[in-house]
Amino acid sequence: MDTYYFDNAATTKVKKEVLQEMLPYYSEKYGNPSAVYAIAREAKKDIEKSREKVANLIGCDKKEIYFTASGSEADNTAIKSIAYKNRFKGNHIITSKIEHHAILESCEFLEKQGFEITYLNVDKNGFINLNELRNSIREETILISIMFANNEIGTIEPIEDIAQIAKEKNIIFHTDAVQAVGNVNIDVKSMGIDMLSLSGHKIYGPKGIGALYVKNGIEFDKFINGGHQERNKRAGTENTAGIIGLGKASELAKESLNEHIKKVKELRDYYVEQVNNKIPNIRINGALNARLPGNSNISFEGVNGNDLLLELDNVGICASSGSACNSEETAPSHVLSAIGLDSKTAKSALRVTFGEFNTKYEVDYLLENLEKAVKKLRNL
Ligand SMILES: *Cc1c(COP(=O)(O)O)cnc(C)c1O
Repeated sequence: MDTYYFDNAATTKVKKEVLQEMLPYYSEKYGNPSAVYAIAREAKKDIEKSREKVANLIGCDKKEIYFTASGSEADNTAIKSIAYKNRFKGNHIITSKIEHHAILESCEFLEKQGFEITYLNVDKNGFINLNELRNSIREETILISIMFANNEIGTIEPIEDIAQIAKEKNIIFHTDAVQAVGNVNIDVKSMGIDMLSLSGHKIYGPKGIGALYVKNGIEFDKFINGGHQERNKRAGTENTAGIIGLGKASELAKESLNEHIKKVKELRDYYVEQVNNKIPNIRINGALNARLPGNSNISFEGVNGNDLLLELDNVGICASSGSACNSEETAPSHVLSAIGLDSKTAKSALRVTFGEFNTKYEVDYLLENLEKAVKKLRNL
């Protein structure tokens, strides 16, 4: 059976050109980048080229990019390293209720160490309230971390306004942009972003590689101890192939950004419109504007999302009932709860996320089978 992949927010398929560039680093170019001989020096040089490509994608200097093992690690680092570095200045951090678990659990970890966290509410479309943000700021606030775009409902937060508020109060502003990078035009300098997390496998690069942008001048604690890699911030022999893959994926994402946005948005808009026409008693979750171009999240009244996923899986369709991390849990999604959905409506949600490789033919296949599955489950 063919696979119809509509879970591009969970991960994406590695582009051929990306894999092609990675392969030599598993064979002839295997030198440890810290060593002195030619094959090692070359690996080191290639890593720096990759760093430049990642920097270009978000508009920063290459010296402001630190490679990590994942988006989760970049998030953990941002939260914990800033907290520890500034703990004598203050112990208060502001984030939101709809962050990825990499942020939320890092904050919960810090709470146990005596830090205080404010979790901002969001409205029914998933937007934070800027006045609530302003009012939450204290003398002790050292960090604001608000995601660029949400992984479940696709809502894009007012990043520039948040950055402006943080700047006025001299507070560091971090954003988890793992979903936004490659789907939204990002320029950290003009947007006023101090720190940003991104991940390779969400932008058609390999899994197990991410990056943290830290604006020049912001001090943060070393977060993996050992060797002096990554300008003495993260020890560990570099994942050379992964870094090369992330670099190539970043380069391609930059080149094709506008085209990519147009393509996935067209597929998404067509899908949502058709679902709206064909299937009664649905609820579209998340913002209509200011939304990731490839994201859809729809609740189907009277249907359990996990049952729906199984029906779709039977015909080769991959989708999600929330985020990848939530799909095995029985609790409703914290994001859908935060936008005000009751537990039943939250559990009837289907997240369909479109990507580079999807076609209209595939969307029609999805629509046909989705309609059948919803009917079947509603009649049970
Ligand atoms: C996927 C994702 C992460 C985690 O990235 P990994 O590289 O899978 O660890 C963090 N935040 C958001 C918003 C994500 O979508």
